[in-house]
Amino acid sequence: MRLPLALLLTCFCSAAHAQHAAHEHGVAELRVALEGRMLQIEYASPLDTLVGFEHAPSDERQHRLLAEAEATLRNIGRLFRLPAAAGCVLKTVELSSPWALARQAPAAEAEHEHDHPHAAGGHAEMEAAYTFECDRPQALDTLEVLVFDAFPRTREVRAERVSGRGQAAQVLNPQRRQLPL
Ligand SMILES: [Zn+2]
Repeated sequence: MRLPLALLLTCFCSAAHAQHAAHEHGVAELRVALEGRMLQIEYASPLDTLVGFEHAPSDERQHRLLAEAEATLRNIGRLFRLPAAAGCVLKTVELSSPWALARQAPAAEAEHEHDHPHAAGGHAEMEAAYTFECDRPQALDTLEVLVFDAFPRTREVRAERVSGRGQAAQVLNPQRRQLPL
């Protein structure tokens, strides 16, 4: 069973936007939810923090930077580390990237790219959602966040976790990378 992508991302966007009128460059949002054997990780970052700009890519270099950021976001091992004892297997990865979507759209649709919800008000974000199934979820004690290495412009990750231990929020940074689950 998978949620429709649009529904999943719409829910995440609304929640993120309710908390912050506009995103802050260098600050990403992380949401981790553990229910039974299923672990869901959602990550949203200002595009500027990933690639250094937030406008539509205008040359080959900027297209390449976007493609590289997407490839990194799909490579979960570069972003997060889970306890090996938990035996988690990545089941799905969903990416939302405004300019990549605009690039693939027919010309007529590309004209509407300014209406894209992830590129409102002169800002743009990239979002990723990952679903894992874990053999021994009781071994999931911490999530180590590696995005500070993968995307060095990231200086803060505002994290929230929901698990059998309840709900908690924590701010991570390059010196503090462990999110207790
Ligand atoms: Zn921005």
